[in-house]
Amino acid sequence: MVWGVQALRVALPLPLEPMSYLPPHGVEGELLGRRVVVPWRGELRVGVVVGLEDGARKGFALRHAVACLEPYPWLRPQELHFLECAAQELFAPLGSVLDDLLPFLEPALRHRLRLLPGALSAVLPAGLESLAEGWQEARGFDPKLLDYLREGGVLEEVVEEQRPTRQILVPLKAPDGALTPKGRLALEILHTLGRAESMTALAQQAGVGNGVVKGLLDKGYAAFVELPLEVPRVEGRALEPLPFPPEAQRIGGGRWPERLRVLSGLVREGPTLVLFPEVAQLKRCLPHFPQALPFHGELSPELRRQVFHQLAREGLPQGGAVFSTYQGLLLPFDFRRVVVVEEGNDAYKLSGGSRAFVPYLAELRAKLAGVPYTTLSLVPSLEAEWELRRSHTVPLAPPRVHLLDMRRERGWPLSGAAVNLLQQVAEKRRQAVVLVARRGYSAVLRCKHCDWKAMCPDCALPLRLHRAGRAGRLLCHQCGHEEKAPPLCPQCRSEVFEPKGPGVEWLLEALEAAVPFLPRYRYTAEEKDRLEPLLAGEPGLLVGTTAVLRAPTLPELALVLLPYADGFLLDSDFRAGERYHRLLWQLTELHPRRRPLLALQSFEPAHPAHQALQQGDPETFLRNELLLRRALDYPPVQRMIKLELSHSKEPVARDAAVQLADFFRSRVQPGELLGPAPAPVPKVRGQYVFHLLLKGSTARLQELMQNLPPAKARLRIDPDPHSFVGLLED
Ligand SMILES: [Zn+2]
Ligand SMILES: [Zn+2]
Repeated sequence: MVWGVQALRVALPLPLEPMSYLPPHGVEGELLGRRVVVPWRGELRVGVVVGLEDGARKGFALRHAVACLEPYPWLRPQELHFLECAAQELFAPLGSVLDDLLPFLEPALRHRLRLLPGALSAVLPAGLESLAEGWQEARGFDPKLLDYLREGGVLEEVVEEQRPTRQILVPLKAPDGALTPKGRLALEILHTLGRAESMTALAQQAGVGNGVVKGLLDKGYAAFVELPLEVPRVEGRALEPLPFPPEAQRIGGGRWPERLRVLSGLVREGPTLVLFPEVAQLKRCLPHFPQALPFHGELSPELRRQVFHQLAREGLPQGGAVFSTYQGLLLPFDFRRVVVVEEGNDAYKLSGGSRAFVPYLAELRAKLAGVPYTTLSLVPSLEAEWELRRSHTVPLAPPRVHLLDMRRERGWPLSGAAVNLLQQVAEKRRQAVVLVARRGYSAVLRCKHCDWKAMCPDCALPLRLHRAGRAGRLLCHQCGHEEKAPPLCPQCRSEVFEPKGPGVEWLLEALEAAVPFLPRYRYTAEEKDRLEPLLAGEPGLLVGTTAVLRAPTLPELALVLLPYADGFLLDSDFRAGERYHRLLWQLTELHPRRRPLLALQSFEPAHPAHQALQQGDPETFLRNELLLRRALDYPPVQRMIKLELSHSKEPVARDAAVQLADFFRSRVQPGELLGPAPAPVPKVRGQYVFHLLLKGSTARLQELMQNLPPAKARLRIDPDPHSFVGLLED
């Protein structure tokens, strides 16, 4: 194609589609994938050139980009292609995905400008006269006025990234007679060390005052030199790889140390991109992978940008691997495999922006690059097409499980049997974790004697009890189904009741009453007691929510007790069962070597997740669960989108949800639309929340989502939703 005027499609890290600009004046060479500085709403922003187009058809209204930040592309065509495909898959503007994956894209800028030589200084508005005198720092000038000049084409600008470096103190000369004894001592130490991080560091090493070191600098014996930032490397030893069949696409089973050895084998095969759900987990692995380059949100934005620069120019060193969180998905290097660790972990679901579920993106990245995609986890995710993938299972001993049937046991929230177990912990001077679900936001109704509980006939989810006066209504928070609460169990005519889930406070009191001699430590996302005595091996109880999964390992852990295990099953969410199943298996790994007893107080001892534990096979549960998902057309059979409508006035939110449902009703097939329904927590932060769900293939959903009418309430879109509770973040 012959280009008339070449224009750039520039994506900014904002929830927008790419915008068109003319190239910066005087910039040569390939522009695709490069970072450019462009005027946007009166200020300068940094974006990426994601495409080129014929600018002639756009007319002359296009503005020029101001500058390129470096002479080479940040993203290669393969990364740009991935970015476009990802945005389509997520029903999100490309800029949202860019912002999610490169939140460090925009550096601090050094910006200088002057009046274009030859232009008349008379054009300069009041306050900008100094631009006629030569180069000026842009800071301090009114950006609106600058933009006015820029648009008039009379401004010459230089924009550069401020690249921070670290300063290192090095010796320049040998000590001589002109030095004081202290100065000589400090300089000799600097010669021995080769370098010092700061003046203070050297002064401390030498046991002299800062003034002595400053004297060395002033007299030219030592000086600061600048070095580029460095990714901190972790000292460690590589693990002996555990063999696995080369064609395996999913590797499961085993214990954590064994899975690490499998990972060691995977990484040894060649450059690998390994994704982790959380930074803490990534860091725990690093000591076993000295060749891995870590990349995650705890590294400073400057350092992350520098890694990008390095990879964009030089690629990854031979035999290396990148261990990253989702922020590594766009790193420009040629990997031979993508590995996702714990692919079912909910932490992979981004809470804002495009709200991507990262393993889907990782699989897309691998597919577009034509390399194998491998998952590595104890419990596979149903949504990783687990049953279709060639799997390899590391042998696993069945965990130690003790089920306490709460329809028979006495005592609530602690049964007599549970108190016995806790007493044994105390006698043997061991430690226990007591775990509760913090999800008792509304009650379910269940039978006191049989396994009946109130369920939605259409969604296979527990119905929620809403009290209105003395009578109760049962409501499904997914599809809006509503019925009267029965006075007796429809199955066996016994009494029905609503067990209230004990919270952390209640449990702490109950534990104090039952085992007063065992110290109790609280551990939730909000409140963490100091754990030093437990970590030193003292007996005690760690009482908390699922935050305990991220707590340090208790050395003497002997028991994990869930007083109301079913509380974890009460999400208004079709994944509740799968999530509970994964949680139970995670709890069996709370200690890397010990095998603590897992004691579950449950009203549903026959639950398939419990059976899977007893049989020692995580996949039994998944096979059952998949049948259910198929019957209801839930993921992985179909994809889902949640459309959330919220407003401070309940009728406005409700009407907007009904209107949007009416819009879809004219185009959907039966089963493709669920709702509208009030969210499980119908009012959050003063906002009333309603939602609709769409089910279908990606292509079908794209069709349904076209030309959405404007909504009268706030509309947020959540692809592949993982939570049906609460308000989506912006
Ligand atoms: Zn019953
Ligand atoms: Zn329902």
